[in-house]
Order: sequence, then structure tokens, then C-alpha cells
Amino acid sequence: MTNIALVAHDAKKDELVAWAKAHEAELAGHTLFGTGTTGGRIRDETALEITPLKSGPLGGDAQLGAMIAEGRLDALIFFVDPLSAMPHDVDIKSLIRLAILYDTLMAVNEATATGIIRSLAED
Ligand code: PGA
Repeated sequence: MTNIALVAHDAKKDELVAWAKAHEAELAGHTLFGTGTTGGRIRDETALEITPLKSGPLGGDAQLGAMIAEGRLDALIFFVDPLSAMPHDVDIKSLIRLAILYDTLMAVNEATATGIIRSLAED
């Protein structure tokens, strides 16, 4: 059982929900966490169980960073919008920095997310 976080910026939420539906069977074998809005959409639009944290701009990214620092998150699937400035840019950078620091599996786009979920299925 692996703890996986799912996060998507607004312009990427449809893409992440579609990806989660396409990989529902693999994701169902793991414990899922999400930032508030992303997690709510995945809970409402898929059959997956997911624990929503605070919305990203209200501290959700920081909560995920804390989970990484405490060794409670195994993989981060984070569909980043590369074309928009974010009010919580410092939190996003912190989350990505902590994932690098703690050598956490991290995908910031769909292709890598698919690679990670496939590799976890092989474990
Ligand atoms: P959200 O947060 O899922 O609450 O929109 C995502 C983010 O912007 O980090």
C-alpha cells in the first residue's frame, strides 16, 4: 500500500480527473490524498476513495510538503499549469523542493504520472 497525492492546478484539473479515471483500477490499490478542490473532484467524478486536504492556495500544498518531510507520502502526482502565475507559488516551489530533497516519486505531467503508476503496479 502506497500513499499517493493527487494535485492539479485549475487548468489541469480536467486532465487529472480523466487520467485518474483511466487509471482507476491501479489507483484503487493505494491510499490517496488530494488538495481540496482536486480531491473533491476526484471523489465526485470517480469511484476512488481520496482524503481531501485544504485547497492548495489555502495550505494544501504545505500539508503535502509536511507529509513528505514526515515520511508519510510515497508519491506525488502534481499536474502543474506551466502557463499561469499562481498566488501560492512559494508553496508549490516548497512542495516540489521537498519532494526532490526526500527523493519522493514525483510526476508533474501526465506522461510521468503514467510511468509512476505503472511502475508501482509492478512492485
Ligand atoms: P486545489 O489545489 O486542488 O485545491 O485547487 C491545487 C493547487 O493549486 O495546488
